[in-house]
Amino acid sequence: MGIPLASESRLASLKGRTPTIATLCSHSSLQIFHGARARGFPTLGVCVGPPPRFYDAFPLARPDRFLSVPRAKDLVSVGDQLRDAGAVLIPTGSFVEYVGADAFGSLDVPVFGNRAVLGWEADRKKEREWLDSAGVPMPRRYDDPSEVDGPVIVKYYGAKGGKGFYLAKNRAALDEFTPTGPYVIQEYVLGTRYYMHFFYSPLADRGYRVGHGSLELLGMDRRDEANIDELYKLGAQEELLRAGIRPTFVVTGNVPVVLRESLLPAAFDVAARIIERSIELFGGMVGPFCVEGIMTEELEFKVFEISTRIVAGTNLFISGSPYSDFVEPGLSTGKRIAQEIERGQGEGRLNEVLS
Ligand code: ATP
Repeated sequence: MGIPLASESRLASLKGRTPTIATLCSHSSLQIFHGARARGFPTLGVCVGPPPRFYDAFPLARPDRFLSVPRAKDLVSVGDQLRDAGAVLIPTGSFVEYVGADAFGSLDVPVFGNRAVLGWEADRKKEREWLDSAGVPMPRRYDDPSEVDGPVIVKYYGAKGGKGFYLAKNRAALDEFTPTGPYVIQEYVLGTRYYMHFFYSPLADRGYRVGHGSLELLGMDRRDEANIDELYKLGAQEELLRAGIRPTFVVTGNVPVVLRESLLPAAFDVAARIIERSIELFGGMVGPFCVEGIMTEELEFKVFEISTRIVAGTNLFISGSPYSDFVEPGLSTGKRIAQEIERGQGEGRLNEVLS
């Protein structure tokens, strides 16, 4: 038996019935509904305003029904209706961004995964404490600008999609930076970015064993980030700044990547450490998560961020990936979530995968 995350009263709305898989109608909802339908679950889409028409174009990924709310954050006021529907909410990036970690954390509806994790992801200091204490290599952090001895990236707290990040190639350039909110100064790591989609199952009893369960790698992508990805075509940053163009990291899309096979042991080692430490700190991160980092020319993987739930990069792999096909042909993260809920229910262990 693993760690119980949900109390009996939290799961009371699911007693004796098949859960309805529910999520907000954005981010990776098509994949989540598609995976749920494939495993025979009823589905419910929480939408802002009238049901979006684009689902009509994707019959295999359309939710069975919709629940409309005026704004995404009004999700917290439809708890009764979600419980009545026997809903299990699947958190996505949209929950963190539009509903907020605190409001979401107090919602009295069963949620897939450990909801405590969102608080650790939303706070850069707590996230660093978690990863540092897990022994995960991260970009150096400068507490005092006078220590800066190379290129740095200045990140605001909660700056979603890297909006407003400032790049300085040296100490002098950093002196020109005027902050407009709380920020951290980090070593700018030169290398290749990888966004690795893992899944931790506390229920699995075979495979790559970690904690009480197993770790799976389901896919990998790299993000297209406007306009930084195109900067090289235009020349040096100073020129751009003179032209009034500031680099941004706003995500505009995703491309599939694979890692050199000889680097996979390091990737699994990092992900396993993150899980093991999460078990000690807050009972464990369950389900999908993404380890985001940069592989340097010395082949050291430095992690700049983790996303503690399904990421939009998994949308590339709705019919499998070069990794998930070795777990089960055609396996998507959406389908994997549905399988975990199915297994939890079948074995009477839903309290280990829901919170
Ligand atoms: P999101 O919420 O979309 O994940 P965020 O605002 O939390 O974004 P990060 O994911 O930390 O921001 O960083 C955004 C982008 O900035 C990364 O995808 C990467 O391209 C770049 N980046 C972040 N940290 C570093 C670093 N230390 N060195 C080099 N590039 C970095």
